[in-house]
Amino acid sequence: MELFKTMREFDYENVVLCYDKTSDLKAVIAIHDTTLGPALGGCRMWTYDTEEDAINDALRLARGMTYKNAAAGLNLGGAKTVVIGNPRKDKSEALFRSLGRFIEGLNGRYITAEDVGTNMKDMDYISMETNYVAGLAEKSGDPSPFTAYGVFRGIQAACEEVFGTTELSGKTVAIQGVGNVGYNLAKYLHDVGTRLIITDIFEDNVKRAASEFNAEYVKPDDIYGVDCDIFAPCALGAVINDETIPHLKCKIVAGSSNNQLKEEKHGEILQEKGILYVPDFIINAGGVINVAEELHPSGYNKERAMRKVSMVYDNVKKVIQKSKQENIPTCIAADMVAEERIKTIAGIRDNFIKKV
Ligand code: NAD
Repeated sequence: MELFKTMREFDYENVVLCYDKTSDLKAVIAIHDTTLGPALGGCRMWTYDTEEDAINDALRLARGMTYKNAAAGLNLGGAKTVVIGNPRKDKSEALFRSLGRFIEGLNGRYITAEDVGTNMKDMDYISMETNYVAGLAEKSGDPSPFTAYGVFRGIQAACEEVFGTTELSGKTVAIQGVGNVGYNLAKYLHDVGTRLIITDIFEDNVKRAASEFNAEYVKPDDIYGVDCDIFAPCALGAVINDETIPHLKCKIVAGSSNNQLKEEKHGEILQEKGILYVPDFIINAGGVINVAEELHPSGYNKERAMRKVSMVYDNVKKVIQKSKQENIPTCIAADMVAEERIKTIAGIRDNFIKKV
């Protein structure tokens, strides 16, 4: 692969390949951009087919974190770690402590957290070797309820745009996936009197949410075509595609899933159909906003974290505004909002301040 060509094309700063003989650690830390501050991004563990796949995944995810953190208003850059290995078989104390030492060696340029394939225990091992780890159990904890609250606020912002009110009582929301985020989102919506239609591939998840929130439920494939005001994907990526769009009857797509659009063109198709798409990385930033609160000089504070997550409402509004101003799909407007913030903050730092 032509790594430097990719780094130049997409402005990557660092790609660190970590190997430790004792633990057989093979990890890639990709740091995309630290203009706004230290780069924060989770640590994923996966059995990649090739080393190139692992590097590409780290690069792609790191860049995504730059955009997400920037648009969320955080003073953080974007990065990601991938550990090559089977998360069910290849974990050990030595593996994660060894990774922790590599992270420590970056001296604060990179801060890690949990991601797909890693858990609190792994983060605890990393934290034995470095303080540059966020999302520990005794601090900000499980991000899902915060992500759900952000999605709830984002839905309110989208509703104000489409229906002229943030009022969600009497509206119908279809939730795809009632796992960690979907369940908590259903709770917020139920509390304000929203009618819910849910689905999940696990029956126990469906039963729990249906009984607690008086929700109707449908089979997984039927969720796209239900009559609703808002469709909230909270399960998988690439669910907005050529096959599903013709079925949609909603006016808004707004949920927590990452990479909801199969391709960028699907954002344009939604716009043409008069469906407002709330870009995933804008609306699902509640979790990272909460984790970032651990880095506050006075330490983590839940009330302050919730106040900041609530501002997902403003971030969604800003993207919608940009999309209208420039007459572009919201997915493109979201990228522009992130890029403009990075550029502006870099600009205001041009003047000289003497370091003491
Ligand atoms: P989760 O695994 O707890 O929940 C996902 C749910 O979707 C599960 O209940 C699963 O059974 C269900 N599901 C899977 N395939 C389905 C299908 N085909 N149809 C219907 N349901 C299906 O995960 P989560 O933490 O709730 O995250 C949900 C989504 O939000 C993911 O895409 C995740 O990447 C994204 N996200 C989560 C967070 C967070 O804080 N947890 C933050 C940002 C983004």
